[in-house]
Amino acid sequence: MKEKLLPGRRSFSYFGIMNNRFADIIVDITHENLDRTFSYRIPDELAESVAVGDRVLIPFGKGNRQINGFVLEIRDTTTVDPSKIKDIISVTSDDALVEQKLIMLAYWMKSRYGSTMNRALSTVLPIKKNVKAAEKRDVVLALSDDEARKKLEEYTSKKTTVARARLLSELIKEHSIDYRLVTGKLNISPATIRALCEQKVIDVVNERVYRNTVSPSAPSAPVTLNGEQRVIADDIITQYKSGIRTTYLLHGITGSGKTEVYMELIDSVVALGRQVIVLIPEISLTYQTVMRFYKRFGDRVSTLHSRLSDGERYDQFERAKKHEIDIMIGPRSALFTPFDNIGLIVIDEEHEHTYKSDQMPRYHAREVAVKLAELHNASVVLGSATPSVESYSAAKSGKYKLYTLKERAKGATLPAVRVVDLRQELKEGNRSIFSRQLKEGIEQRLLQKEQVMLFLNRRGLSGSVSCRACGESVKCPHCDVTLSRHRNGILKCHYCGFEQSDVKQCSKCGSKLIGAMGTGTGTQAIEEQLRSMFPYASVLRMDADTTRQKGDYESILSTFANREADILVGTQMIVKGHDFPYVTLVGILAADMSLNANDYRAGERTFQLLVQAAGRAGRDERSGEVIIQTYRPENYAIQASVTQDYEAFYEEEIGYRKLLSYPPAGHMLAIMIESRIENEGMDYARALAETLGNGIIGPVSVIGPTTATIRKLKDIYRHMIYVKSRDEDLLTNIKDRAEAYCETNRKKDVRISFDLDPMNGY
Ligand code: ADP
Ligand code: ZN
Ligand code: ZN
Repeated sequence: MKEKLLPGRRSFSYFGIMNNRFADIIVDITHENLDRTFSYRIPDELAESVAVGDRVLIPFGKGNRQINGFVLEIRDTTTVDPSKIKDIISVTSDDALVEQKLIMLAYWMKSRYGSTMNRALSTVLPIKKNVKAAEKRDVVLALSDDEARKKLEEYTSKKTTVARARLLSELIKEHSIDYRLVTGKLNISPATIRALCEQKVIDVVNERVYRNTVSPSAPSAPVTLNGEQRVIADDIITQYKSGIRTTYLLHGITGSGKTEVYMELIDSVVALGRQVIVLIPEISLTYQTVMRFYKRFGDRVSTLHSRLSDGERYDQFERAKKHEIDIMIGPRSALFTPFDNIGLIVIDEEHEHTYKSDQMPRYHAREVAVKLAELHNASVVLGSATPSVESYSAAKSGKYKLYTLKERAKGATLPAVRVVDLRQELKEGNRSIFSRQLKEGIEQRLLQKEQVMLFLNRRGLSGSVSCRACGESVKCPHCDVTLSRHRNGILKCHYCGFEQSDVKQCSKCGSKLIGAMGTGTGTQAIEEQLRSMFPYASVLRMDADTTRQKGDYESILSTFANREADILVGTQMIVKGHDFPYVTLVGILAADMSLNANDYRAGERTFQLLVQAAGRAGRDERSGEVIIQTYRPENYAIQASVTQDYEAFYEEEIGYRKLLSYPPAGHMLAIMIESRIENEGMDYARALAETLGNGIIGPVSVIGPTTATIRKLKDIYRHMIYVKSRDEDLLTNIKDRAEAYCETNRKKDVRISFDLDPMNGY
């Protein structure tokens, strides 16, 4: 029944007035039934009152039984025979309905980012699964506190029982912990749990018997906010109580206690009977963070993460609908929790690129949160030590309200930051990726039994393999990217997973002078060099390759947190929100790598990475040091990260964005045209670009088509058109026209997609 928009078949009009409008109506709004919409006529007397999202009463089926449905779309054409189409009876719109709000949100997303209504709706609605979620279990302490402490001493004294000690020390604090947290975040094996049960140290209990997810003693008393925190929390709460709803930006240095401020606000909003969504980047969804929320709010909190099955996810959403919880914590998709009365949405680390979806509709969680808040009459709190240029500029212009936290909460001072010029090192004969200062710094920390984190913005043995005689490089047969050589000699494509054995001879010129370039700069190579430089140190590596299996990530972190390793080497994964009190040196091996990326956000990303990485050093009473190695010490992003001077960075960056009309000064719409046949894609893109260029009605520039930076991916060729304008509405208009063009000029095998203000290059 799903009708298609057919241009040329407009509904009739008389006296020149188009008074016939039609609505697509869904009667069962679930993820599984999105394709089943029905077309109805909107009678004249309802013309003013029917809108997308409304609940309406309609005559349904042969007997014209009266049932409720929701309006998904309003059109001025229909493919249904005009004599057969039925009229909507009445509108029974109800603002409080969760369904209505979700439909309105999906419609807004579809219109802003470009996608079908169907896809937008399936993004906001959970998939129902018949599989029952695994029964929830808790691990509880079976000993008295005194006995437990004695046991802990015993475990701590032996090297073979570190895992037991880890569990026991958590249980002494919490008394009861979710089974999944124990095996996941705490990395305790089921065998260990069984053994401890047999020794009657712990019990494993069923949730039904034992309802509290975390602790019978939760919620525990909150910390007392310090002066800075108190002022901000009071201010926002006072405004909230007086009915003011807006978006706040909390700019607070790492460790300044932003999370404590969020929790204070959440407490007040929940006390007023409203619900709260907290977004955190998946990567910082650590045991520590989750525990802080559980401790404060007990079983009124639930979390979502990517490892939940569809069924488990659905269950969490059901609990939200039934008001069993008030607070949902999770990645960007947690926005679609079906709460009916949201009072506050918090987005921690709001600058993170994971808040932008990489699938159509390519929405940004920050923008969707602001829209969702508007639908619920809620406020939004964004927090970061390094706010996105977009948010900071909105705060400066008064669109958001800005608050600043300038002190680290535990009194710790920010680390001393030093820059080492790698060009100078080279001049003085040091060809290693480790500068002399960094090497000395590591040695010193090892002697003091402190820990070191080394950060590299790349993974694998960077090594693309190429011929030194003719320059030919070895590429993936399915993607337009070079393969990289891994330690075992296998060549891998990081985009599609293609693998082949190493090559010994150049396929173009036959030369045997073929080898991996830049070996010695990937995380794996760094790990090897560290092992040979410091044979007595224990080194851990964390990157995409070492965290493939479920639990790998947590297990590396907990090993490091237990001080079972001295040095942690990794990619951006190690940068986020962890508190390791014994880390006193953070080394950034090559700060420039992210600057070289050909994308207008390179400076911003580099500054954010450097400041966040520096934030890992000296979190506690031991003071920290950061060494930044770079080939471009004069670069503004690097300079500003040395002084941790966000303002200075922002002024420089916004000047550059304004000059080139990049977001937030201007806006950009990336249109990607994908096709299996390269020429077909290019021809289509050319015709589309021409059509768009011809109808332009304002200051807009259409650039392209060009081939994407990665020309071919998984055997599909990619062409790009970029449209730039200072006026966002003009871009929406262009997007609508592009969609209409593609609707009338359908080509089997050609696909088109949109990305508004892209965060990743193509
Ligand atoms: P951020 O989110 O800004 O990085 P956190 O909220 O994680 O900072 O705070 C950093 C550390 O300081 C945490 O261990 C937190 O419990 C502690 N902390 C924050 N505020 C206070 C306070 N007012 N009193 C005591 N400890 C605090
Ligand atoms: Zn060659
Ligand atoms: Zn590939």
